[in-house]
Amino acid sequence: MHDTMTTQPQTGAKWPSEISQKAVTEALSDVPALAEWPEGVTFHDAPDVEALGALIVPKLHKHLNGHGILFVYREKLSFRGSPAWAIASKLSAKDQWLLGVERKRATLGPARFLLTVNWEVWHGLDLLQKCALVDHELAHMGLEERDDELASVMIPHDLEEFVPIVARWGNWRRAVSLMGAAMAQLELGLVEQ
Ligand SMILES: [Zn+2]
Repeated sequence: MHDTMTTQPQTGAKWPSEISQKAVTEALSDVPALAEWPEGVTFHDAPDVEALGALIVPKLHKHLNGHGILFVYREKLSFRGSPAWAIASKLSAKDQWLLGVERKRATLGPARFLLTVNWEVWHGLDLLQKCALVDHELAHMGLEERDDELASVMIPHDLEEFVPIVARWGNWRRAVSLMGAAMAQLELGLVEQ
């Protein structure tokens, strides 16, 4: 799942009732942030992204509780020529074996997913945007019962659409009307601020 969103400052963004700015600030208080990208390295540990994941999973993505997720930075990420903010992916059985994560992270359960975050984008985001991005990427991570086993699956976006198509054709399919209804609730102030 590749996410390329534009990094315009947002007005009208809001903290959800489940995640407060105070809780996020506390969760990050002892976590080292990577201020500069080290020379000659492509990937790097992302302990602050991991801390946000640890805060957000039990509140908003309970199905992922106890299923390992690895959080890493990559210096740059792009998709079709635009910077991608992050990429969520699932680990294959081969990946898990090669990484040795089943042994290293036995207490967390085998790692099923990988969240790769574009460091260049990440360090320019505000705290709310960082949380929303982690929440968004976690929403791509699904688990499905298959032959009595839990399989890792990637969940696509509810709405994959071009802005000019919606401007031209309006609510031409259900996903558009659902997104439109969510936006309208925000504008009417029906969603808790
Ligand atoms: Zn996405």
